[in-house]
Amino acid sequence: MGLEGQVALVTGASRGIGRAIALRLARDGADVCVNYARDVSGAGAVVQEIAKTGRRAFADQADVAVVDQARRLVAETVARLGRLDILVNNAGIEIEQPFLDVTEEAYDRVLAVNLKGAFFCAQAAAREMVRQGQGGRIVNISSVHEDLAMPGNSPYCLSKGGMRMLTRTVCLELAPHQITVNDVGPGAIRTSINEATLSDPALLKRLQARIPLGRVGCPDDVAEIVAYLVSPRASYVTGSSYFVDGGLMRQAGSL
Ligand code: NAP
Repeated sequence: MGLEGQVALVTGASRGIGRAIALRLARDGADVCVNYARDVSGAGAVVQEIAKTGRRAFADQADVAVVDQARRLVAETVARLGRLDILVNNAGIEIEQPFLDVTEEAYDRVLAVNLKGAFFCAQAAAREMVRQGQGGRIVNISSVHEDLAMPGNSPYCLSKGGMRMLTRTVCLELAPHQITVNDVGPGAIRTSINEATLSDPALLKRLQARIPLGRVGCPDDVAEIVAYLVSPRASYVTGSSYFVDGGLMRQAGSL
């Protein structure tokens, strides 16, 4: 409720957390551009589910790591749905390698998708929001690893640390335009990005034991706070990180 007449762009919305966010924003009244990189059928299924809610949606293939494609994605959202009020920078990848073995190719790809993609999607979206003159909402889906170290995943941690500072810096430049910029850091959430851990009972048990609330989260847990941050109820909230992690960050801090 509360997003009627607004248009949202969710990057990486063909599955996982992005899918849950796209469906939630549509249920709350927004029309949605469902971005994806490769999974055309997953994105199509999300569009069909949104159509059932009575909202407009379309799937748009774009690799957010390529600046021209990120800009075209924003332009197509406006061309197809009429305007842009909400951007959720959700697309993200991990390539796990020990620091001593990280290749230039893996480093460049992770930083390009997770950080450069978020940066230029935010820039293109903000230009449109400024032009419209009615404010806007940008939410960056970061990670607990914007702050918590994760050995074996250093480029990912760098990219998420960068998203945290993207949020904190850009919120100041966009505040005069009533565009808020916030950051949501999920902990362990049940999606394909964690398949290796979730499908191994011993690893899963060890992970759950480290989470104070005792369970892995679900994509809807993340969508819930995004729905709040993009709503009119959060008009005075900008520049902050919100963790959805079952207490994982505090647990780590208590050791
Ligand atoms: P996921 O299930 O692997 O889904 C990733 C999504 O990103 C897919 O829709 C994928 O599209 C899209 N994507 C990948 N590369 C892209 C690119 N270059 N351009 C556009 N879209 C691209 O991952 P998830 O777990 O839902 O993660 C979503 C976000 O949450 C990520 O930023 C991740 O870092 C963050 N996060 C997740 C967790 C967790 O535990 N799951 C924890 C902390 C943070 P295709 O399907 O078309 O490839």
